[in-house]
Amino acid sequence: MKLKFPVVIIDEDFRSENISGSGIRDLAEAIENEGMEALGMTSYGDLTSFAQQAARASCFILSIDDEEFSEPDFDGFVDVIENLRNFVKAVRKRNEDIPIFLYGETKTSRNIPNDILRELHGFIHMNEDTPEFVARHIIREAKVYLDSLAPPFFKSLIHYASEGSYSWHCPGHSGGVAFLKSPVGQIFHQFFGENMLRADVCNAVEELGQLLDHTGPVAASERNAARIFGVDHLYFVTNGTSTSNKIVWHSTVAPGDIVIVDRNCHKSVLHSIMMMGAIPVFLMPTRNNFGIIGPIPKEEFEWSNIQKKIDSNPFIKDKKALPRVLTITQSTYDGVVYNVEMIKSMLDGRVDSLHFDEAWLPHATFSDFYKNMHAVGRDRARPKKSLVFATQSTHKLLAGLSQASQILVQESDERKLDPTCFNESYLMHTSTSPQYAIIASCDVAAAMMEPPGGTALVEESIAEALDFRRAMKKVDDEYGEDWWFKVWGPNTIVEDGIGTQDDWILHADDSWHNFGKLADGFNMLDPIKATIVTPGIDIDGNFGVEGIPASIVTKYLAEHGIIVEKTGLYSFFIMFTIGITKGRWNTLVTELQQFKDHYDKNMPLWRCLPEFSAKYPKYERVGLKDIANTIHAFYREHDVAKMTTEMYLSDMIPAMPPSEAFAKMAHRDIERVSIDHLENRVTAMLVTPYPPGIPLLIPGERFNKRIVDYLKFARDFNEKFPGFETDIHGLVKDEIDGKKAYFVDCVRDL
Ligand SMILES: *Cc1c(COP(=O)(O)O)cnc(C)c1O
Repeated sequence: MKLKFPVVIIDEDFRSENISGSGIRDLAEAIENEGMEALGMTSYGDLTSFAQQAARASCFILSIDDEEFSEPDFDGFVDVIENLRNFVKAVRKRNEDIPIFLYGETKTSRNIPNDILRELHGFIHMNEDTPEFVARHIIREAKVYLDSLAPPFFKSLIHYASEGSYSWHCPGHSGGVAFLKSPVGQIFHQFFGENMLRADVCNAVEELGQLLDHTGPVAASERNAARIFGVDHLYFVTNGTSTSNKIVWHSTVAPGDIVIVDRNCHKSVLHSIMMMGAIPVFLMPTRNNFGIIGPIPKEEFEWSNIQKKIDSNPFIKDKKALPRVLTITQSTYDGVVYNVEMIKSMLDGRVDSLHFDEAWLPHATFSDFYKNMHAVGRDRARPKKSLVFATQSTHKLLAGLSQASQILVQESDERKLDPTCFNESYLMHTSTSPQYAIIASCDVAAAMMEPPGGTALVEESIAEALDFRRAMKKVDDEYGEDWWFKVWGPNTIVEDGIGTQDDWILHADDSWHNFGKLADGFNMLDPIKATIVTPGIDIDGNFGVEGIPASIVTKYLAEHGIIVEKTGLYSFFIMFTIGITKGRWNTLVTELQQFKDHYDKNMPLWRCLPEFSAKYPKYERVGLKDIANTIHAFYREHDVAKMTTEMYLSDMIPAMPPSEAFAKMAHRDIERVSIDHLENRVTAMLVTPYPPGIPLLIPGERFNKRIVDYLKFARDFNEKFPGFETDIHGLVKDEIDGKKAYFVDCVRDL
């Protein structure tokens, strides 16, 4: 396969009609004649963006003198050296290996300080050798470098796909050929391209190794990733962290076992409870009136507190049994994380395995910014007894394709992971036809994070996230008394750079989060998650006279090409992944300003939300400000912030274990109950309101009045504001006599 990685030449004289210019152009031509692209530049320009180009180059040739500095002009040469040093530093911060050559006419290595010299791969002297000879030398180094880039599995896959072997195995499209036999197939083929289809192979191809039994190049890549992430074992998973969580659980949880679970957990963890027949004991997180889920207070992790919950659970027979797993959402949707060392020191040996659901946190191990605030990694002390697992969605914050995920394991002093046993659980949840492009993306995403490059990527996204917060603050300051959006987080941000972890620690009674008396140093907010709060409500849940529910803002943004990750009542959230660009967040700032302008002018929806109002003509002539305030008034009237907070914090009483309630559904031993008659009934379904997407009731739990009131509110709201519906998974919607009716499948006769 031919790759596009030019040799980048930086020489002020590249386009000049002088000896120096013609010398360097001869070299460029010789490089091109050898079949490699050469790209000539006349200055470093903006150093940072230039250094980022290092990702696209096969090597750099930097000229260090020209006509001007060939005079004995000492000061000028100092500048040249300084520019050179800054450039080399900026490149090496991201890339230790790309070859850098110096090109000189009069100067020699004697003139170059050692801190620069030792970063170089060679010194080319004009006119000493023929351009052809120099070109071949450079290209050889460039090729060695390019060859070293692809990690093991990806390298084998490229090799296999480009070899053009005929395949008799699945998939049946045979390297894409099947698509060529039909017009719509042709479109598919042209859209995705030959390589994607050639690389879509099945596990009969031996030279690529096997994901399912971790052999060959796949295994080499998993070992490579384990080294990069600093863990004892690392497994690639091609069905998302939803599956990674189930694999970890099934390797250690059996029917009737006690499990300790963050109530704010992903539904895959609740699915695991149901599938494995576990008896959950929940730890309750805090919550504020913006609807942001806070940390589980440290006291909740104290063993005495957990034992109390076990003692009072009617479904746990053996109150002294060792809980099999503790699962914590490590980085909530809004970016709250825990000090894992503190959790380990409280629960090591009290629970068989400590599991951190780090779907949103694969980046943390690469910067000291997050020291101890993630599950496992280099220089992290082993627990004495408990195994530690982390499950990470490579596709959420790193460069993985959708469903790319990984399981990381840290062994304890006393217990090693038994890979054979563990793999039985892995097999139970993994397709026998894994998608090889996803495996390759797991492989590449890990290789990209190899320090120093990975550290630079993470710290750059933190830097962008902070610049965004500063930009939003500046706009706010300039508007003065006038309204503007706030970004949720500590009240002060360091003026420059990324600062340190300390700036983002949650302290007891901080007014910005309102999560109460938090323990010292137990939690931090990850600044790359930015929750943007819209006007209308304060942190105590008091409604303002005017207000802008977030769903209106995010609809507006969507029509202007900006899709946000999650929308709450008065907040929405975006994240700064390693794919963030300045263009992207600056566009968000300007679109928010457009929104403000349209809001302040009360512009009719047919003008500012044309697609939405075409779908819902009843809003066509309604002004943006009017619709926002009508919905706001409805929220205020129902005191919805407090209603949802209290609902989430209310006591959920289990009437039967989750797996038993779910079994009732499998046996159709259920009854569809209207929400008007739900109180005290036992749900057979997960009930999950969006926002916030956190399960509210779990199969086997009883509906209390608060929850029923909320469901009725949601029904009234949806009736009144079509197009702005709140979605609640687990509700069955029907229409009776032209009116919307909502039901939940409940356990019969209970
Ligand atoms: C997204 C998410 C998952 C599931 O990850 P997928 O890769 O989408 O399957 C698990 N846990 C948490 C906390 C998540 O946010």
